[in-house]
Amino acid sequence: MKRLIAANWKMNVPPEGIEAWCHALTSLRFDDREIFVAPPFPFLSQIVDNLGTSGIATAGQTCSWTEHGALTGEVSPGMIRATGAKAVLVGHSERRASFGENDSIVARKLVAAASGGLTPILCIGETADERSEQKTAAVLERQLESVIPSIDSRGTRLVVAYEPVWAIGTGENATPDQVAEAHELIARLLGSLGWTDVPILYGGSVKPSNAGELAAVDQVSGFLVGGASLSSQSFIEIIRST
Ligand code: PEP
Repeated sequence: MKRLIAANWKMNVPPEGIEAWCHALTSLRFDDREIFVAPPFPFLSQIVDNLGTSGIATAGQTCSWTEHGALTGEVSPGMIRATGAKAVLVGHSERRASFGENDSIVARKLVAAASGGLTPILCIGETADERSEQKTAAVLERQLESVIPSIDSRGTRLVVAYEPVWAIGTGENATPDQVAEAHELIARLLGSLGWTDVPILYGGSVKPSNAGELAAVDQVSGFLVGGASLSSQSFIEIIRST
């Protein structure tokens, strides 16, 4: 399985500029890597153009749970697909915490994304309190078991990102042992739900200085990178050490 590295720009764009960022990425070759960039919606088409035939793909950061309707402000999976994007983040912890996305909304979005022709990158992970109360396994189990059965493994590609909430944007990454334990559990749970060979990414304060040791963990198929993806140079360093 190719290593997969995805950039999540959140509601930011790279200080060096979008064109310069894309140029830095497309002037190199990453033959044995699958790379995605998830910018804010208005930049998707421009980035698809800037990335050209490099093979680097784009992704939405979220999507609606339906294709059409009176849903002011929403963007459907089909609309994201029409920009040339190939994937979409679903259930990012910032969506869960700030926009009320619970497991049932996440399940609907997962179905919509898959039926709209996008690869869902399903984000799951426990909060600091849940970890300290030893609820990590129960949270991961609930977040997977309440949504995965809504999609069919035949004909759907799925990517899962383990993103402990306490590690996102804090500078404090999970340790390799914590990542190994969570990824093994996720792979086991996915297997029991009929999904094998699902790439499992780690996300949470990944940077050039920790990417190598985290990438060496068994079951880590790649990374979802927020802050450190805004600089093309640090993103490239992460890709190279993955
Ligand atoms: C993220 O937004 O998914 C993320 C992992 O952010 P950061 O790398 O900044 O922790």
